[in-house]
Amino acid sequence: MSAAHDVIVVGARCAGSPTAMLLARKGYRVLLVDRATFPSDTVSTHVVHPLAVAALERWGLLQRLAATGCPPIHTYTFDFGPFTIQGSPGTTASPVAYCPRRIVLDKLLIDAAVEAGVEVREAFSVDEIVFEDGRVVGIRGRSKAGEAITERANLVIGADGRHSKVAEAVSPAHYNDKPMLLAPYYTYWSDLPIDGRFDTYIRPHRGFAAAPTHDGLTITVGGWPYSEFEANKKDVESHFLKMFDLVPEFAERVRAAKRVAPFAGAPVANFFRQPYGPGWALVGDAGYTKDPITAQGINDAFRAAELCATAVDQAFGGARSFDDAMREYQQRRDEHVLPMYEFTCLLATLEPPPPEMQQLFGAIHGHRAAMDGFVQMNAGTISPAQFLSPESVGAIMRAAQTAN
Ligand SMILES: Cc1cc2nc3c(=O)[nH]c(=O)nc-3n(C[C@H](O)[C@H](O)[C@H](O)COP(=O)(O)OP(=O)(O)OC[C@H]3O[C@@H](n4cnc5c(N)ncnc54)[C@H](O)[C@@H]3O)c2cc1C
Repeated sequence: MSAAHDVIVVGARCAGSPTAMLLARKGYRVLLVDRATFPSDTVSTHVVHPLAVAALERWGLLQRLAATGCPPIHTYTFDFGPFTIQGSPGTTASPVAYCPRRIVLDKLLIDAAVEAGVEVREAFSVDEIVFEDGRVVGIRGRSKAGEAITERANLVIGADGRHSKVAEAVSPAHYNDKPMLLAPYYTYWSDLPIDGRFDTYIRPHRGFAAAPTHDGLTITVGGWPYSEFEANKKDVESHFLKMFDLVPEFAERVRAAKRVAPFAGAPVANFFRQPYGPGWALVGDAGYTKDPITAQGINDAFRAAELCATAVDQAFGGARSFDDAMREYQQRRDEHVLPMYEFTCLLATLEPPPPEMQQLFGAIHGHRAAMDGFVQMNAGTISPAQFLSPESVGAIMRAAQTAN
């Protein structure tokens, strides 16, 4: 029996909607399902770094985001206590970041998928992945009314987040696993203005950040090492507010502000999953999840959506075998994200940086190009492998010595 759809995508947020949209734009029959309805929120802060903004521009969606009134962010600051490193996060072509509410961003993405011709079913919960002869051939789920439905496709893509049902069913190989490292939480404030900046404060065993979002609100996100998760989870509010006291001028600003939302958050494990196999693929957090401290999830989901859609098109169009095309998808995904993954996991420990790193931060401070480079590394615009290479570090240290 021929499948009703070329592709079924499970999960319709940052990874799923763009993957479905890009495949539909290439002419494929795509069914996109999510148990959520949209617009809806999810447990995530939402800094969208400049390279992800560039993806929105490539897809023709950036103007729509800007039109929602989300303020652009042109500067990131990293306050280490004795000094602050401040710079521009983006490239000449894509200079700014945004921090759009997921309720806005995810709706914009799913609407773009619908416009591209994707058939979308919201409030559709996938309970089972259907196999035939060891190959995934479809999904079985329930509509909101509780009706059991089976849908078949040549390929089922799991974009269903880190607790992916698709991944659970296909049991892919895991690699580079690391435990939970950080307990992150966030909330929203009015009257805490932060004009065009994403400000991060780093102190031993604590870190927090603030960024402007929709409706004139500011999001603050912060946390402590995972080892304190159990002890602090019953009173997140007082531990979170106490963290601000480590930066008295920020605590003062918060005292003049009004909190407009409860605290939300969740610790996240760190892992890679093999992202393809017979009849299935994984994109976004379903295939690769890391701690949110560097806010790379949306950036990575967008890049994976493009890489995966390209590979699927090559395979379906007969240009390459499915395995060859998807192997390249995995290789390119991993090559790109691995240095940032290691850097992210290091930061997420919230341990004070080792002495040589502190020396480097001191040398970066006050030097425009080095500060921009540092900020761009944290934004994922340039790779930590490049910025922390011996040549780059040597040049930064020499420049600092010459200036002194
Ligand atoms: C506290 C925190 C803060 C974060 N901050 C940032 C940040 O500032 N910037 C950033 O870029 N990233 C951030 N992230 C990471 C970011 O949230 C994720 O990387 C991103 O949401 C991944 O998108 P996704 O589409 O892969 O998965 P998700 O956003 O998890 O979406 C998965 C979708 O699949 C659906 N689904 C799941 N199972 C089923 C099923 N069985 N049937 C039907 N539908 C299903 C869900 O309803 C959901 O809509 C943060 C994460 C956390 C936890």
